[in-house]
Amino acid sequence: MQKSIALVLVISTLSPGLAACDQWSIFQSAPSFEENSAFIKETNQTTVSFTTCKIDTTEVPEAESDRELLLTLCQDYYARIRQMLGSDGAEQPSSIQIRLKKGRTDQVADVSGGTISLYENWFMKHQGDPDRREIKGVLAHEMTHIMQAYKTEVPQWVVEGIADYVRHAMGLSDKSAVQCEDGKHYEESVYRCAPAFLTYVEESYPGTIAQINTQFRTTGYDADFFTQVTGKPLDQLWQECLGTTWCSGGREALGG
Ligand SMILES: [Zn+2]
Repeated sequence: MQKSIALVLVISTLSPGLAACDQWSIFQSAPSFEENSAFIKETNQTTVSFTTCKIDTTEVPEAESDRELLLTLCQDYYARIRQMLGSDGAEQPSSIQIRLKKGRTDQVADVSGGTISLYENWFMKHQGDPDRREIKGVLAHEMTHIMQAYKTEVPQWVVEGIADYVRHAMGLSDKSAVQCEDGKHYEESVYRCAPAFLTYVEESYPGTIAQINTQFRTTGYDADFFTQVTGKPLDQLWQECLGTTWCSGGREALGG
């Protein structure tokens, strides 16, 4: 077995406190304001994944003061999301670009290839939020999509469910935002019920998300992966979740 899950995280960063490893000093020597890199080095010494974060605020000059923040978040989230999604040698994007975009006033954000667009009106509205939680949450969600990088079709509830599971696991959404509405199924409520269901599964069967995500990425979607990893088919996991407040619409678990 060549594969090793354990990681040495080395982040080239603007914060000297996080730059811990001498062998990467070449990358730390000239941190640019707009572009920096996150590295994950596999312990078997054979694979070095590399992602460069680029921030582009040229379309929205008012957001220029946030470039450093966005760069730091991109680097930090890359490492954290990669751990959550599994790191089993899967190909990662060579760069992630975050660009502020003018226009389309009702739009929040979207992702295309390795580029995340954050839309002006929404971004400026949330600039003053405490801890910029909404901006951070949306960024975590969209970065997850880039890093899912599925090569075959995967159901929407899995794609969106994992993205909002990650956001919630990073403490960037409230529990009430990740909870099935009464009577709703995870396949129809992909932004609330699906992440609630996946959070329940991960809490009850730790490590499931990283394993299934890695399998979806390398061999495509197969619902049987849930059975292989947890020992229980999806239907049974769903029935279990319905006995908890994650999936029962906020009602107390019925028990039994
Ligand atoms: Zn999404």
